[in-house]
Amino acid sequence: MSSNSASHWTVPEPREAAPELKVYNTFTRSKVPFVPQRGRLVTWYNCGPTVYDASHMGHARNYVTQDVIRRILRDYLGYDVHFVMNVTDIDDKIIMRARQEHLLAQFRAQHPELTSALLKTVQEAWTAFFGQTLASLAPPAPPMEEAADPAEAARQRSGEGGWEQVARLAQNEAWRTEASQSMPKFSLWLKALQQSRDAQVAAAVALGAGDASAAQAAQLIDASIDVLSAHLDTTLAHTVSDPAVFRELAARWEAAFFDDMRRLHVEPPTMLTRVSEYVPEIVQFIEGILKNGYAYVDEASPESKNVWFATSAFDGSACPGGVHSYAKLAPWSKGNRELLEEGEGALAAKGKRSAADFALWKRAKPGEPSWPSPWGPGRPGWHIECSVMASEVLGSEIDVHSGGVDLMFPHHDNELAQSEAFHGCTQWIHYFLHTGHLHIEGLKMSKSLKNFISIDEALSRFTARQLRLSFLLQTWHAKMDFRESLMAEVRAAESSFNNFFAAVVALDREARARGAAFSDGQHHYGAEAQALAHQLEDAQCAFRAAMCDNFDTPRGLEILLQLVSKANVYERSSSRDMLNVTVLRNVAQYVASMLRMLGLGEGPVVEGSLTWGHATTEDSSAVNRDDIAAPFVRVLSSFRDRVRQLARSNAPAKELLQLADTLRDMDLVELGVALEDQEDGQALFKFVPAEQLRAARAERERAQAEKAERKAAAAAAAAAKRLEQLEKGRVAPNDMFQPPHCDQYSAWDELGLPTADKEGEAVAKKRRKNLEKERERQIKLHEAFLAAREAGEIS
Ligand SMILES: [Zn+2]
Repeated sequence: MSSNSASHWTVPEPREAAPELKVYNTFTRSKVPFVPQRGRLVTWYNCGPTVYDASHMGHARNYVTQDVIRRILRDYLGYDVHFVMNVTDIDDKIIMRARQEHLLAQFRAQHPELTSALLKTVQEAWTAFFGQTLASLAPPAPPMEEAADPAEAARQRSGEGGWEQVARLAQNEAWRTEASQSMPKFSLWLKALQQSRDAQVAAAVALGAGDASAAQAAQLIDASIDVLSAHLDTTLAHTVSDPAVFRELAARWEAAFFDDMRRLHVEPPTMLTRVSEYVPEIVQFIEGILKNGYAYVDEASPESKNVWFATSAFDGSACPGGVHSYAKLAPWSKGNRELLEEGEGALAAKGKRSAADFALWKRAKPGEPSWPSPWGPGRPGWHIECSVMASEVLGSEIDVHSGGVDLMFPHHDNELAQSEAFHGCTQWIHYFLHTGHLHIEGLKMSKSLKNFISIDEALSRFTARQLRLSFLLQTWHAKMDFRESLMAEVRAAESSFNNFFAAVVALDREARARGAAFSDGQHHYGAEAQALAHQLEDAQCAFRAAMCDNFDTPRGLEILLQLVSKANVYERSSSRDMLNVTVLRNVAQYVASMLRMLGLGEGPVVEGSLTWGHATTEDSSAVNRDDIAAPFVRVLSSFRDRVRQLARSNAPAKELLQLADTLRDMDLVELGVALEDQEDGQALFKFVPAEQLRAARAERERAQAEKAERKAAAAAAAAAKRLEQLEKGRVAPNDMFQPPHCDQYSAWDELGLPTADKEGEAVAKKRRKNLEKERERQIKLHEAFLAAREAGEIS
């Protein structure tokens, strides 16, 4: 502790130390302190996309997650981040896809009509495809046939006969499930074969009927794309040599990738590098590795050779920085043949000395794009590009490298080996960040499982904000399951924030309307307001601790949601004239700015904004002020017209109130404005999506209609009951004991009271008393009846 005797000042002792940033580093498999090379400057290289197809949810999670970490470092923790990303535009998948698309387009142009030659080519392609895919699933031929003609039996099995067997077996679901397990692409292949086969039958019928139309040809080709592509590539790949064919496909998918990223609000990298633009540097880099003794050139052919990285020479060798080590990220994968082969690509070369070695330079084969090199025409292997571009742009020591967890081995381990072999160091990268896998409803995403979701599809079902929230609710390096219940959680969180912001914006607007210097003579910082202000401070400290704890966004969101619910409790429990809007405004401003910091904001950032913005459709920022104001002004103007009309005609107040209700319930609802009447007579207005207001109004109307219906039914029942009652009084009291109303007596007095029964016997005294009472009651009923008839109530 330092002190200054002149002013008696001492450096304060903090009650709580500021949290230090720790990140989960794949090198240590633990959270470690984050220490960049130059103060607060972070150099970061991220493996970008291989551009040959549409991006999917796995990509979305990877790039959005990195975007979040980048924003936290830069916009919250105050680092300057130099974020470099590459685009892999030279790759076996790109080469094959481009070649197949090109050859298929050429094939279409060559077959404008349905001909028997076209059908024959498709049949050949189909047979070859079946032979390479599902033929192995056909049961062996019976021993008898096999013995009689082995060649014919084999031919049968790999063609027509085999297909019939497979198609029959595939009717059985248990068999299909088993086949899918042993053959991951089973269902895709089965579908491709079945489709093409049906189209071949249809084409044969059309040819027989003399229909050779272009539509028939197109139908056959469309249904046979998979089988034809494979066939054309096998037979004609060598004829494709124009580099533009490969470049065009890569450029198209690169543009699509960045369009997806823009829609997901993923910021573009600080610098973008493309492999195709770095081939000379790659050649030099490989020469450096060769010079250091960690690579060798094979003798594939005199004019073009492959260059291989020698893992065994590298692993354990001494260098100026210490001892080299191979597969530091995933040592358990070292020698995993399947992963190694996948990493080498489908167009892998041959000629390496050890199975663990990998290609630095692949010699060009016919039908592949190539660049000049000391080893003849060829192209870079997959892993070398990242070593070279990262080193070129960021140097021989880099703070952060990132990518999806699936790139850990062999790609990232090979990258590290190459770079450390070149630079003669043992820690080229200090922090390796791997984003976790994404599963869909518990299953790995794959085209054959039909749970493959492209970013385009995801954005048609959810907003970019909802997708980002779903990723933020996960630990960034853990596996996540994209499932319906997660999206329900996302929607709940989203509406908690939306409702809170709408309420504070409305209160804030009202407070502003009273003027900046308005005072009612009270400070409004009562115990509850003070408590909320302290809860804001606690949340701010906790949120910072969460961000520093390996970017713990699930915890961060939980802290913000808890703060919002505390603010809601305060807002609802305080009377309107006691409410401290400033404290609520501070909470909203903080929550909104943290959500925006995480990339969840929509629309332009306005200083002091109390919301995270409304998720709007693209390009809505281009709408001008007049267009926004016009519908509101139109409503105001027509309201004024009607008020004037009513005033001129001395209309009753009821009609004016009716007009005010129509404004609230109809006109403003359509404009997305909710008007809430308050006790003090001043309505509070909120901006709420019109469809939400319409739904609420429909619900109110439904409830009202139901109530009215119940009331009407009750009234009808009461009326029926009264009629029934009145009906009892229709008979005059003097007639009530005489026919046709009664047949039990034979003589009556002047009042119509019976004096003798049917048999002529005199009516007993006691009985006569009862009859008199009965008559008294009828007098009353009859009077009521006559009055009702007089009033027209009954006829
Ligand atoms: Zn890479």
